[in-house]
Amino acid sequence: MTHDPALRTEALEQLLTERGLVVPEVVDGFVAKYEREVGPMIGARVVARAWTDPAYRARLLADAVPAIQEVAWGGGANGEHIVVVENTADTHHVVVCTLCSCYPWPVLGLPPSWYKDPAYRSRVVREPRTVLAEMGLDLVEGVRIVVHDSSAEVRWLVLPQRPPGTEDLSEEELASLVTRDAMVGVAVVSAP
Ligand code: FE
Repeated sequence: MTHDPALRTEALEQLLTERGLVVPEVVDGFVAKYEREVGPMIGARVVARAWTDPAYRARLLADAVPAIQEVAWGGGANGEHIVVVENTADTHHVVVCTLCSCYPWPVLGLPPSWYKDPAYRSRVVREPRTVLAEMGLDLVEGVRIVVHDSSAEVRWLVLPQRPPGTEDLSEEELASLVTRDAMVGVAVVSAP
């Protein structure tokens, strides 16, 4: 059996279709929705709101799903139990799913391929600082790294630090700076 996830997925979809368990158009529509309508732009809007509205930030950290729904909500699946963790000057959060590829779809869309890579999944737990450095994120010595293991029960979203020098930017301008990788915790947000 092949280990290429794309081939395996295609084989699985074909099998399910042949048995009449799924309709290909439904699967295609689902993929298209997550490619075009639901993606990191939703998470970015949530982050920008949290940066500009302290009361919203408090609601988001206390109970993420209703707070996310205030801004936008891409869909119900795979995000019912999102928890938001906030990066600070001395603590950096990073997210993984060690078992498979659990991911907060409604706010980040489909996971990138590296998130599903067995090397990332096993190594980021054991040696997060090294893995992050390899991905281009050199954290200052002394910053505590907390690794969160996503699961079917809890999916994590990182609230990155607002970059300095962005005091004059609007919420929309701030949202445009926020990347998917920063919300997974493998990057930080930079000023324009
Ligand atoms: Fe998983």
